[in-house]
Amino acid sequence: MPTRALSTAGEAAILDALTRHGEPAWRARQIQAAIWQPYVGDFEELLQLHATLRRSLADEFAFSTVSVGAELVADVGLTVKLLCRLADGQTIETVAMETPAGTDSRRRSTVCVSSQVGCAVGCPFCATGHMGLRRNCTTAEIVDQVRAAAGALHRRGMGPVTHIVYMGMGEPLANAAATLESLAVLTAEAGISARRITVSTSGVVPGIQQLAATHLPVTLALSLHAATDELRDRLVPINRTYPLGMVLDTASRYAEQSGRRISFEWCLIGGVNDSMEQAEGLRDLARRAQAHINVIPMNRIEGSPWGPPEPEVARRFLGALRGARVTVRDTRGGDADAACGQLRADLEARRILRPDGTLSPPRVPARA
Ligand code: SAH
Ligand code: SF4
Repeated sequence: MPTRALSTAGEAAILDALTRHGEPAWRARQIQAAIWQPYVGDFEELLQLHATLRRSLADEFAFSTVSVGAELVADVGLTVKLLCRLADGQTIETVAMETPAGTDSRRRSTVCVSSQVGCAVGCPFCATGHMGLRRNCTTAEIVDQVRAAAGALHRRGMGPVTHIVYMGMGEPLANAAATLESLAVLTAEAGISARRITVSTSGVVPGIQQLAATHLPVTLALSLHAATDELRDRLVPINRTYPLGMVLDTASRYAEQSGRRISFEWCLIGGVNDSMEQAEGLRDLARRAQAHINVIPMNRIEGSPWGPPEPEVARRFLGALRGARVTVRDTRGGDADAACGQLRADLEARRILRPDGTLSPPRVPARA
């Protein structure tokens, strides 16, 4: 099995392989461009190369490091959730979401990528947190999720990809090396503008500093979920290592250096972080940091008694944020196990997902 990932091999390595096969150098550029075409899913589809060369390249390079095991469609076809199988049988989730053009907004296609198999942070409301950390994703595994999602959108007549969010499984800044390398590949080679990429973090202070040092104008989303250390210690356990004051200082510095407004994520949990005190605390912190607030009503997960608040309580909470910039995130993919790690957890519980990453019947709807 080829061990080298095509998407991160670089032009020199491809050039080297071509030279060994007596091919002209310009073919390297041809291959590098084809990597990012959503309609090319395999070496076999690179018809501009002759069959022997296609086979030789396939022996040397892995066209993709992820293979799509299942696709679930939600939101009248606008959201496609992919269960991606990695070479060692691990599985991660990737989501592609299409937002049609509005009266004052352009069409967007956003891909949400996973950065780790599982997560060590252990937020109690998060399905991925309940898994613990299995391993980090490689740079190629992060980048190849975008390629797989672009292909899935293309097959359904949607795309091309305009935005990327690191909001799938895992803590991207606890896997900073691969996350930063993937940002470099996606901005330099896939042609996605850094301004259209968001990295979401639970608050890994050294990782935020490393991200700032890249000078890429990527948007930082901080998963706040609590406005006091006491509550945040429980909801986002990494707060015990990097408490609120420290993480807010680092995030504000990031905003200054990058020139990008930061956003605060708030998973709204009934009876846990939906009080007026928390709302007022959030509003004040957001004003101080000039941050945008994203409120996400909690998706229920297996193994947690928590859920979203009653609509009336949610309305009061949002009312107390008046004056701040607030978006309430509709839980896209709601009918396809929306929040990170939920699809995998659900398929595992129903014994549809085998431990080696393959699927057993009853099958979930496969590709169209
Ligand atoms: N580890 C990173 C990025 C992945 S999680 C982080 O925590 O920021 C992406 C977002 O999904 C986070 O804001 C997280 O809090 C949120 N999330 C996780 N589980 C959720 C659930 N059950 N309901 C709603 N949002 C959830
Ligand atoms: Fe990890 Fe983010 Fe889930 Fe917390 S919310 S456990 S940091 S993936």
